[in-house]
Amino acid sequence: MVLAQLGESLVGALAQMAKSTVVDDKVVVDCLNDVSRALLQADVRFETVRAVQASIGSAVVNLQSLAAGTDRRRAIKHAVVDELRRMLDPAAGGGTGKPPPFFVPRKGRKPASVVMFVGLQGSGKTTTCVKYADYHRRTGFSPALVCADTFRAGALDQLRQNAAKAGIPFYGSYTESDPVRVAVEGVDRFRNADQAAAAEGCDLIVVDTSGRHSQEAALLEEMRQLAEATRPDLVVLVMDATIGQAAFDQALAFKQSVEVGAVIVVTKMDGHAKGGGGALSAVAATKSPVIFIGTGEHIADLEAFDARSFVSRRLLGMGDLPGFMDKIEDAMTTMTMAADQGQEGLEQQLLHELTTVKGASFTFTLRALYSLFRLVQRMGPLGHLVSFLPAGLLGDKGKQEEEGQQDKIKRYMTIMDSMSAAELDGADPMKLMMTKQQQSRINRVARGSGRPVSQVVELLQEHKRMAEMLSELAPAHVKRKRPNNKH
Ligand code: GDP
Repeated sequence: MVLAQLGESLVGALAQMAKSTVVDDKVVVDCLNDVSRALLQADVRFETVRAVQASIGSAVVNLQSLAAGTDRRRAIKHAVVDELRRMLDPAAGGGTGKPPPFFVPRKGRKPASVVMFVGLQGSGKTTTCVKYADYHRRTGFSPALVCADTFRAGALDQLRQNAAKAGIPFYGSYTESDPVRVAVEGVDRFRNADQAAAAEGCDLIVVDTSGRHSQEAALLEEMRQLAEATRPDLVVLVMDATIGQAAFDQALAFKQSVEVGAVIVVTKMDGHAKGGGGALSAVAATKSPVIFIGTGEHIADLEAFDARSFVSRRLLGMGDLPGFMDKIEDAMTTMTMAADQGQEGLEQQLLHELTTVKGASFTFTLRALYSLFRLVQRMGPLGHLVSFLPAGLLGDKGKQEEEGQQDKIKRYMTIMDSMSAAELDGADPMKLMMTKQQQSRINRVARGSGRPVSQVVELLQEHKRMAEMLSELAPAHVKRKRPNNKH
């Protein structure tokens, strides 16, 4: 099953529960069964599905003993989201035992960090090496690529051409057939201070290695020798998502052969084949962190993987406000925007509240939403960040054209321009404006902004959803490690 389908089934299961007038045991059991069925159809391992079902079940039982008035629907949804995240994140409890700590490259590090990519032939290893190097180049690293794949004809040219396209220094040999020798030469060249490339300040050397069609002994032995000769700081295993549950055995086999890392990139998550959910959950069960996912053949189609963001944004289309604010903050650091734009009070506070540990103390008013939109607009070319906002706000599952999303933001801002200070700053604008007695407020805003009443109501509903989501996510965000610190 394609991931989007898994997402739709999960959203369907939660929506079904939301529709029920009373959330009794039967509704909860039905919801759990629907979630389990969706996961099994997405090729998630049976053991994992059973564990997820049991965990959600016990979380819900605990909730039943809570004081009356607890919003059960919301609590169940929360439990489902939490369990899905745990399923995909070894650090949060997927699998057994603790995940090993792994090396994180640092800008300007001397000598340069060495990251070696391994994997089966056709997994997307060569493509991912270039994507990985380019990803780091865009965030301020000075990467270099070394081709130690002397097995596959064409690998050298593929890497050389793509490196040239991305403007990344490259080393490879048409004459040397010993992969260990090429790798050592390449690493020495970029690490050696006398060389021109080193003088350019190379701080990250990405080594592409040979693959084979299966995890045969010769491949594992070659990897072992390469690791011994180049002493990589990190070994990254590249796996194709379409192999589904087989990812479990493959990851274990590789982990047993190379000591360093066992960190994984799962490619072809954009594909139509089933297995995305299966591969990701199988990897988590091996306790190997997934650091990136490949989402296409283009060089920019590489996404840093964070289980929380992935579950809420990609699977459930709920948006990922903390992830969104992380991204905005990162972008601002890069662009030194804060300095030249002179952040205004509320925007500064908004950023602060959402990116630091305060969380729930902040009231997400309509004015705060307005500021959030202004931030999105200022991002300009980074407009794709809007996909981090809830799907409802920006259309179905965030698939709309960016232009449509920006239009919607403008429309909402126009509506808010016609609101009074009391409406913009009220803690519960929905309550303030939606009661029968207050109907005139909605009519006034609609008239003032030249927009239909239905759009004003839609804005209020979306605002309420975001405010609820923020209050739900705030405590989790506090605990969460910033994805940026991971790799
Ligand atoms: P290698 O043998 O492991 O080095 O594999 P390649 O890097 O040559 O990739 C094999 C094929 O998979 C190529 O056609 C790539 O364009 C394709 N590929 C790699 N990553 C992705 C991805 O994330 N999505 C899609 N759709 N294709 C990918």
